Amino acid sequence: MLQVLESELARVAALSVAQPTPVPAVKNARGRLSCVRCGQTAFATLPSGARYCLSCVGMGRVTTGARLWRVPLAGVPQAGPLTWAGTLTPAQAQAAAAVQTSVAAGRDHLLWAVTGAGKTEMLFPVIADALAAGQRVAVVSPRIDVVRELAPRLSAAFAGTPMTVLYGGLPWPGENAALVVATSHQMLRFYRHFGLMIIDEVDAFPFSQTPALAYACRQATDGPTVYLSATPPTNLRRQAARGQLARSFLPRRFHQHSLPVPRILRVATAGLPGRVPQALWRCLAQARAADRRALVFVPDTRWVAPLAAAARAQGFAARGVHASDPAREATVQAFRDHTFAVLVTTSILERGVTIPRCAVIVLAAERAQFPASALVQMAGRAGRAAASPNDPVWYLAGHFTWAMAQALHEIRVMNRRGQP
Ligand SMILES: [Zn+2]
Repeated sequence: MLQVLESELARVAALSVAQPTPVPAVKNARGRLSCVRCGQTAFATLPSGARYCLSCVGMGRVTTGARLWRVPLAGVPQAGPLTWAGTLTPAQAQAAAAVQTSVAAGRDHLLWAVTGAGKTEMLFPVIADALAAGQRVAVVSPRIDVVRELAPRLSAAFAGTPMTVLYGGLPWPGENAALVVATSHQMLRFYRHFGLMIIDEVDAFPFSQTPALAYACRQATDGPTVYLSATPPTNLRRQAARGQLARSFLPRRFHQHSLPVPRILRVATAGLPGRVPQALWRCLAQARAADRRALVFVPDTRWVAPLAAAARAQGFAARGVHASDPAREATVQAFRDHTFAVLVTTSILERGVTIPRCAVIVLAAERAQFPASALVQMAGRAGRAAASPNDPVWYLAGHFTWAMAQALHEIRVMNRRGQP
């Protein structure tokens, strides 16, 4: 079912096949309010005296006294077969089969796979199973860039299956689809709608810090959930260790090479973005000499433009992109298309972006904006292609941090576990 605000009812009328059912939008247990849509308990007061949920207000206001409408849709549209012609490596096939087994038994599953292991392809069998059983499948990620990267691959792999892509800014609800690819926020609009929920990059901000999104994903499904991550959050690791969650572990990239291990260069970072450490230009020159593109990650949105300009002044074909950049999608596409060689960006591109033959530089890697999981993910942008598995990764840092130590440790442990 869809789950919508009263003001949204007209929009979904065309998809509705029966009278929508209203439920109170806010629960009141002896004065303690909780939001029925997102499960959270932080409320603010309007001038009228009504209270509204702060956690999910970005998707329209849920107020006390209001109702949510649960809208039944027509049956699940007929799905087509898997149209993907590739083959899984033996390790991928084994992990994919483990996921299928868990889901068939109604169990949640954590697929813990290094960056570049080919996670998406490993999901195809379990998605095909669910679709063949007449279920709806949601593939969600907290990150919009990941959704944009996943959507074309899934639509190619399930070419005959009605699919909808949902994220902020796109019209919704779209079609009555068997396969939905969406940001996790969009799950606030569904109630027990999916038979299989797949959450990619489950550790990515804002999912890990936003319990409302975890709640929304649980509410949107009445079947098992598959969690995917290269750097799973502690709670999932614990649940897996205790056996509460099935797990498969894939420490090897699909091309069988190890993860590139970052090199740490001590540089002066205090004067950034104005005073740029010379080491950055040396790293970029080295990448260019080896005919590699380069991703330069910076901790602060305000650094992006001045650093891209400084790189151009040094003779590099550089551009910048950040989260609120209106040209974000176009710039990333131009980088994929080889229009320029150096992309300066923030951690928005730490995931879901695959650029073959690409060096990675993390500038001011000691900053708090770069936790260990982000450092692992950014390093994971390098060496993705079988033809260039040893792309260099540099952390340029003013000093060594615990997060850097953890990131190096995780990468080395994965490389050891992945030894044939
Ligand atoms: Zn809410």
